[in-house]
Amino acid sequence: MHDSLSNHTNEDRHEDVERVLVSSAAIAKRVVELAQQIGNDYAHADGRLTVVPVMTGSLLFAADFVRALPQRRLRLQLTTVSSYGGKNTATRGSTLSGSLPKHLEGHHVLILDDILDSGGTLRLLRSEFESRGAASVRACVLLRKKIPSAVSTPCEYVGFDIDDEFVVGYGLDYDDLYRNLPFVGTLRREARA
Ligand code: 5GP
Ligand code: MG
Repeated sequence: MHDSLSNHTNEDRHEDVERVLVSSAAIAKRVVELAQQIGNDYAHADGRLTVVPVMTGSLLFAADFVRALPQRRLRLQLTTVSSYGGKNTATRGSTLSGSLPKHLEGHHVLILDDILDSGGTLRLLRSEFESRGAASVRACVLLRKKIPSAVSTPCEYVGFDIDDEFVVGYGLDYDDLYRNLPFVGTLRREARA
């Protein structure tokens, strides 16, 4: 039992997780692919690229992503978006909390988020950054749900399209737990009490 496959299987497991949707190995590979593609796309913007991770969900994604771009001169500016309740997409919404990135004039902004669901977060941030004079605004999400609201929201870079299920891990939480899982998966019913 010393081959890498069995090690990997042991790693992607948690007693509260029902099913692994995206393995830690798949995430690691895809994050490097995205960083290489985006690094090439922004070659012209060296020194004028501002990466804006949306806290807290994209903390792990952003950390791995920027480490895969060591050769690029880029700025990191965090932002925090809170979602507020509502039974449907029309009454749900997103609001900014905390400070917004500064001095975006002439900078190419790349928003990094964990998951694209209603699209509220990306729509809000895109219009904020465009109105602050960014040279361009693009978005990259690790995950996108296969639902109309997500697929119809403009997003230039997508890691994985996943089924419409509530997922945790790799930054995504349930009640602020499970962000530290290295993979993305669904929770057992008992864990969602
Ligand atoms: P949107 O603004 O597109 O509706 O949703 C974005 C945010 O909603 C994500 O950044 C995340 O915080 C939260 N979210 C949406 N779907 C999920 C999910 O399946 N699991 C978790 N943990 N958070 C989600
Ligand atoms: Mg979020």
